[in-house]
Order: sequence, then C-alpha cells, then structure tokens
Amino acid sequence: MSSPLVSLRDNAIFIFPGQGSDPRGGLATLHGTSPQVAQRIEEVLGAIDDALNHIEQRRPIASGLIRQVLLDPDHKGGLPVGVPQMAAFAASVALAEVLELFGVCPRVIIAQSLGEIAAMVCAGALTLADGARAVCALNNAFQDQEGEGTMVLVVGSERETLTLLETVRRPDLVLACVNAPRQCLVSGPNKAIEALMKQAPDGPKILRLDAPYASHHPGQVSVAERFLAQLRALSPGSIRVPLYSCVARRMYHDKDDLPRGLADCVIKPAHLLQALQDINSDAQTVFVDLGIGGGLSRCVYATLPLAQAYAPLVQDAAELMVLFSELEFRAGADDPLTDRTIRGLVEAIEGAVSNETSMQAAQILAGLDLSHRIGLANLELHRGTYARLRALIKALPANTRLFDEPGLMLALSQALGVGDPSLFIAFAIQYGLCVGTLIEFEQDNPGAIRLRQALESGEKVSAYMITEIGGSNSQIANRTEAVFDPASRSFTLHTPDNGALKFTNVGISDQPKIGVVCARLKMDGRDCGVYPFAFDISDHRGPRPGVRLSSPAEIPLVPFDYGLARFDHVHLPYCAWLSGTASIDEQGVLHDPLSHPDERLVRTLVAPAHVWAMAAIAMCAVARASVGLALSHSLRRSTMARIGADVSLLSYSTQRRALFAALATTYVTTCQVNHEVEGWMQRVRERTTRRTADASALTWAPWSSANRSLALSKALCTWAVEQVISECRLRCGVAGDLTLNRFMEYEGLAHVFNDAGGNNLLIVLDTAKSLSTLPLDVPPVFSGSARLLEPEYWLFLFRTREYRLISRLKADVEAAEVRGCDPMQVWNPLLVGARAVGEAHGLRLFLESALQALAVVTQPQVEKMLGDLTTLFVLERIEQHAAWFISEGLLGLEMYRQLEGKITVLCDQLAQHAPQWIAAFGYPKDATQAPIGDDMDSAEALASALHWTTGSRPRGAPQ
Ligand SMILES: Cc1cc2nc3c(=O)[nH]c(=O)nc-3n(C[C@H](O)[C@H](O)[C@H](O)COP(=O)(O)OP(=O)(O)OC[C@H]3O[C@@H](n4cnc5c(N)ncnc54)[C@H](O)[C@@H]3O)c2cc1C
Repeated sequence: MSSPLVSLRDNAIFIFPGQGSDPRGGLATLHGTSPQVAQRIEEVLGAIDDALNHIEQRRPIASGLIRQVLLDPDHKGGLPVGVPQMAAFAASVALAEVLELFGVCPRVIIAQSLGEIAAMVCAGALTLADGARAVCALNNAFQDQEGEGTMVLVVGSERETLTLLETVRRPDLVLACVNAPRQCLVSGPNKAIEALMKQAPDGPKILRLDAPYASHHPGQVSVAERFLAQLRALSPGSIRVPLYSCVARRMYHDKDDLPRGLADCVIKPAHLLQALQDINSDAQTVFVDLGIGGGLSRCVYATLPLAQAYAPLVQDAAELMVLFSELEFRAGADDPLTDRTIRGLVEAIEGAVSNETSMQAAQILAGLDLSHRIGLANLELHRGTYARLRALIKALPANTRLFDEPGLMLALSQALGVGDPSLFIAFAIQYGLCVGTLIEFEQDNPGAIRLRQALESGEKVSAYMITEIGGSNSQIANRTEAVFDPASRSFTLHTPDNGALKFTNVGISDQPKIGVVCARLKMDGRDCGVYPFAFDISDHRGPRPGVRLSSPAEIPLVPFDYGLARFDHVHLPYCAWLSGTASIDEQGVLHDPLSHPDERLVRTLVAPAHVWAMAAIAMCAVARASVGLALSHSLRRSTMARIGADVSLLSYSTQRRALFAALATTYVTTCQVNHEVEGWMQRVRERTTRRTADASALTWAPWSSANRSLALSKALCTWAVEQVISECRLRCGVAGDLTLNRFMEYEGLAHVFNDAGGNNLLIVLDTAKSLSTLPLDVPPVFSGSARLLEPEYWLFLFRTREYRLISRLKADVEAAEVRGCDPMQVWNPLLVGARAVGEAHGLRLFLESALQALAVVTQPQVEKMLGDLTTLFVLERIEQHAAWFISEGLLGLEMYRQLEGKITVLCDQLAQHAPQWIAAFGYPKDATQAPIGDDMDSAEALASALHWTTGSRPRGAPQ
C-alpha cells in the first residue's frame, strides 16, 4: 500500500467546514512552520483584508483583525458576530493555498454547510475577494437574526434525532445537519432549543453550540433572500474541481446557480454523512479537514472507519514540519518548491558538466537531425552516422576546439549517448582518439597539424587502430610494422599477416578518412616501440594505395562500420610519424626520451583516456535515461493482479527493489565518474596529460599504466551501467525489448564498452596487480558503534575489505614467488581474487565519491533523498558481500538479518519521490525519443509511435 502522503498528493478529498470552532490562533502553528508557508498565509490574509476594505458591511470588520485573531492564540478582544465566520473562511482558504504550495490539490471537494463559500474559492468558482464578499453578505443577511436562535449538537443518529424532535413537539426545531452516523445538529429559535435541552435526560446527549443564529432553518427564508440578493453581485466562474454540496446532496454542475446554492445553505439541511458515503473513495484516499478544530476529520473516521483523514490545523508544529518536508518531495513538478528540489538533485549530479554547458550542447544539437533510425539497412545507417558527425562538427560554433572546452566535449557526449549512441561512438573516435592523439604529438609537425585541422573542420572523418585481431592482448604486442628507410627518411607500413589486421571503423571506405595507426617502429630490424602514424587511408574513390579495407563486420548493439584494415607496404612520409618528442636524426639514429618500448606504448596510448572520460559520462547519462524511462513507465502502468487490481506497477516491492537499486547504482556511479572526470578535465585544460609514461602496471594491457583510476572507473562504470539498463529493460516487459524504447541501444552502448577503449577485466586485473605491489597502509580502524545506517561504518567495511583482499593477494603472490613459481604459476590461480581486489578498490572509491558529493549538498531535502539513495547502494553491496563480511567477523548475524528490512523501507521511501527522481535523473521525451517516456498511457504512446495500415471498413460496421 502506498504511503498516506503519496495519497495526499494523488488522492485527496478536501472537506470545507461550516462554522463552529473558536478561530483564535487557528493559523498560528501553521504560520510558524516555514517562511514560505508564512508568506502564503500572509498573502491570503492580506488579500482578504484588502477586499474587506472595499466591501459594504453592516458591521465592518476592522482592518487586520482577522489576521490578529488567526495568528494570536491569546487574542484578548471579543469576537463580534461575523468575525468567526470570516476567520473560518480565511483559515480554510489559507490552508488550501498552503497545501497547493506543496503540490497537494484535491481531486474532489466536499462542502459542508456554508463552508461552500471557501470551497467555491478552492474549486476556482469564486475569486478570493468574491469569497470574502459572500461571507460579508452572509453576515449582513443574518445580522437581524443574531441572538434569536441557535444550534445544538445531538450525539445520536439521524433517526434518533428525528425521534427526539418528535418528542419535543416543537415544529420550529429542525434537523439542520447530519454529520456522522451518531452526530446531528438541530437548529431553532432559542425557546425551542431550551425546550429540547430539557428533554434530554433519557435521550441522546445534547451539546449547545456557540452559534449566533439558527442556520439551515426553513424559517430563515428572508435571510436567504437577502443573502442571495447580495450574492447576485458576484460573478462566479466555472467549477474546476468536482465540488459536492452537502446541502444539494450532489455534485455541483456548471449549469447550477451557485449563488442560489449558497443561499439554500441558510434554509436547507446539510448531509455530510451522505456525502462521505456517496463520494467514491478507497483505502488510498485521504480526507483533508480544512477546518480549525478537526471536527470534520472525526466525522470521517466515524463514517468510514478505514479511511485516512488529516486535519492539518490541529497538528502541532513538529507534525506539520514532517508533513511539509515530506510533501515538499512529493509536490507536483510545476510547484516552486518541487522545482527547487529537482534543481538541487540536478545540480548534485551534474558534476563537471554544468547546466549551462549542457544547454550549450543542447543548442548545438538542436539543429541536427538525430531522429531515431529504425529499419535502415546497415550501410545506409553507417553513412548516415558519418553524415551526422560532419553536420555536428559544422554546427559547433566557429573556431571551437573541443580540447580547449573539455566540458562541452563531455556535454555533447552525454547528449549524443542518449540521442544517438552510434553517433556518440563516431564522435568519440573523431575527437577523443584521433584529434586527441594528433594534438598530443603534433608538435611542429605541419602534416599532423593539417590532418588535425581536417578533422576539426569536418572535412575528413577518422579511424583509430591499435587492436589486432589475431590474438588476445594484442595492444601490448602489436605486429603491424613501420619500417624506417634512412635514405628516403620515410616509413613503410605493413601488416605481416591476417593476425595483424586492425579492428576499426573502416566499413564505409569511399569517404575522406584519416587513420591513426599504431605500429611498431622498426629501425635496422630493431624494435623501437609502438608509435602512432597518421595519414589518409581513404578518399571518395576508396582506399588509398596499399590500404585494404573490409566491408563492415557489424556490431548490431551499436551499429557502426566496424571492419578490418590491412596495410600492404604503404609508403608514409616522415610527417606521418607522430613522434612527439622523439626524432630520428640525419644519420638515422632514433632519439627517444623514453627508454623502454613499453613506456613508448603507454605514451602512444594517451588518447584512450579521453574516450574513458567521454564514455563514462555518456554511460551515466544513458543509465539515468533508462532509469527515468523505467520509473515513469512503472509509475503510470496499471496492474491487474488479483492482490491489488489497478494499482501502479511501481507499488510492487519487486519493481521498487529492482528500479531503486538501479537508481542508486546509477547515482553513485555518476558521483565517481564526475569525480574522475573533473581530474581529467583539469589535465586537459592545463595540457598536462602525461608527458612521461610509467609502464610498471602493464601486464595484461596498457590501459592501467596510462591512468589507473580513470581506466578503472570506465571499467566499473561499464559493468554497473550495463546491469542497471538490463534491469530497467527487464522491468518494462515487452516495452523494454522494443528498439523504439531505446533500452537495447543503451544497454548495447554499455556492453560494447566492455571492450571498446580496452577490455575491462584486463583493466581490473592490472589495477589489482599494481595495488599488490604498493606498500600496505595501516589497517582501517573504527571506534564507533557498528550500525547499518552509519556512513563511518560503511567506510570501515569497504576499506577493510579492500585492505584485507590486497593483503591476502600480496601474501599469496609472495608465497608463490618464494616457492619459485613462474609468473603464470603465481598469478593464474590468483586471478579471481585479483578481480575481487580491483572491484573492492573501486567500490571504496565509489563510496568515497558519493559521500564527498553528499557533503556539499546544501538543501536538506535533497541531502536526505540522495542520502537514502547512497544508503541503498551501500546496503545492497553489504548484502552482496555479506558472506565475506560475516566470515571476516565484520558483520554480525543480527545486522545481516536487518538488511532486507532496511532495504525494503528505503525502497518505499524512495518510491515516494518517484516523480522527482524522474524529473531530475531522466531525460525528456525529445531526447530519448522513446514512446515509453511519453506522459500518455504506454499503449497509446506505442500505438501512436507506429505507422498503421488499415483495411477497408467491414460491411455493416458502425460508421
Ligand atoms: C565496439 C568496439 C569498438 C572498438 N573500437 C576500436 C577501435 O576503434 N580501435 C581499436 O583499435 N580497437 C577497437 N576495439 C577493440 C578493443 O580495443 C578490443 O576489443 C579490446 O581491447 C579487447 O581485445 P580483444 O577484442 O582482442 O579481446 P581479447 O584480448 O581476446 O579478450 C577476450 C576475453 O579474454 C579475456 N582475456 C584476454 N586476455 C586475457 C589474459 N591474458 N588473461 C585472462 N583473460 C584474458 C578478456 O578479459 C576478454 O574477456 C573496439 C572494440 C569494440 C567492441
């Protein structure tokens, strides 16, 4: 069952009371809850005061008196008749306004008695000033009757009250209101009321009310007529919220004469009991009592014992604060407070890519056609991707150099990841890999500068080549050779056999394309290390001489023209060599400041780090988009299970668990990626991407040596995001499988980054191996009390896991080395444990980034929401490794038993903010283009996203 607070937003019925309670201090507590609330109350009271100054009143209400009465519980002055009526009206309207401020609007309004005036204001039929006029008109009309009659409360059923009235035999006594199964009001002249009171001893209990006149009494026809005459000066509008009149005993319709309805309240009985029974409510409905004394909420409970009722004006300050802090999270998206929460959430995840830069990226992309391309043949699709890449480059502001604006490069990566993953891949290759390599090594090389300019102007596209298909770990064992010829000072690039074919994007081979090819420099048969070479590999006519390019081999997950490239004795001028600070002198002697070929390789591979940053940012974006789509789909989708027909899919604990765990992973991963990417941006801005190279971490692949933490973040981000999107897809059923709805593509993007930019497992293994060679820190200590919701305890757990796994790996390696094992014998049995080391290290980094991100959040509600998300992430990880934590004596059994319950509670709390998560983390429909993200019912959205073919109308079918 959803929380009452969720229902308060979605399923509230407001009940406006007639008169009754002492209004003194009625709004004081509410007023004190927050400056926004106080401001809204002041606005309402100010507007009523203004109106009163312009209304004709037989007994004018002094300016500021209503405010004084409602805000001062100790108000000493008397309350002349008319003041409580106006104060009750003002209190109800102000409360309704405050609730609206928090996104709580009624789905239905019930008006009891002359609460109809405030109810009509709330329903939009009367302006606030006209409402005040109507109350004055009532006061004016009744003035002559004041003191002539009154009303009493009978604690008995309608039948018992009628029997009582028969017993008294006073035809001038009438049943005025039936409020609850055992609560009625009787109205009449004073003498008749006294007679009634005397009858009481054996019959139902009777309580005298402080009513200044007999209302709901047919004898008040002249009052009603006077009242109506003044009401005729008002101009009611149409009713915007269904409004049930307890006097009319039905919903008002647009055609109803509302002033007549109000006047009828003076002479006809009001039947709240019937209203509560007539109105469609369920266990989720919350009846909100807009009165000062909370009497209506008691009537609700008496009539509908299982109902939920709220009477905000009888709650104390602490209760109201909790209510409003909760409501603030749940308010509608166009509510100012909710906007602030959503903005706070957005700011918390935007990291290095500011909102401003994202807007700039969005503007650049706005003029491009990024429409979803379903059903295109592969070649057409690939050509289209290159056309889009060229259009994107042309759309960049003149003279934009993205390496001078790394934030924009990341913002474009995010938007392209969500809008067109294939184009993102093309963009990452063009800029991250190829322009990135050229910038790093061009020095004063005019040929390299020209090539870079051709890429930055969109004149040419590009392909990057390090991987060779013949064996694993080919990146550290490239066999493509560039043999230097001292006589011509040129190189001959050659692919020795098919095992050295390069895997790259060359399937569309009839366009101007530059290749950045990593090849082993050979001089006099000597291996001088792997360098990048840049040159034209194809033009409009096809591959350049000596270059052979295959047809696309196709990776359907993220379609692009991936294929194979071969170089047959291709002649390359000296300037094709991206030598950086190395050179070959006139005598043909190589001068390279880097002394080892491995160092040269690591130096050559400077550009993949750009792709790790771009890809990690893009993957976080598609993860957020996917969770946003899955959450909004689940929130709207109705279910028909027999245990809860027609409840939202997101009401189910299994759906919540899956999607909020996915959201939590997405958030924490985003924090880590933001943290890493900030460091990358700084290095790019300061042009301090590595100038030297440390190859000591190179065992399986070159990646960790280039930048250990960024490579690891890319690897772990990929694994996290792939899982997140897979879960989101699964949770959307068939809608998740439709290409139209993007999950497949987004998941595909994450999937290919298992290998694109370097294989993740190898990155993790290299990370673990290099950690095992570092001196160990002191073991983590924790002096607090171990509690599952304590961040210090989380840090202790995760740091200890990392510490102990590294210690064990270190010890095992040392022991094996002492036994004289060779590296294969040492490491091969330890690889599963090494992977755990890399992941434990990453988990600790992820948690630290999330806690750091949380520490700078200033809005309490945003901090609470993100804190819950981080907690869920952590508890899920503790549960995942619980066996290990228990076996290591770090987690008690009792704590383990509490885990599941705490996770469930967290998911329920997070579910209450679903609209805010969707608004803050998700992407708008025009970005994802996914019908599932449409606000419509998913069936409607899908049906309207598809083309239809219609047969002729069957004979006899209705027109
Ligand atoms: C979409 C996509 C785009 C790409 N783009 C480019 C590009 O533009 N340019 C380019 O040059 N390359 C590109 N690549 C290639 C990419 O860099 C490689 O796929 C990646 O480095 C892995 O190499 P591999 O495919 O040879 O796999 P392998 O190295 O054969 O690995 C296969 C599996 O074996 C495991 N494994 C390998 N070696 C070991 C070992 N020694 N010990 C234990 N386990 C091992 C790996 O973890 C992996 O699971 C791209 C790949 C993809 C998928």
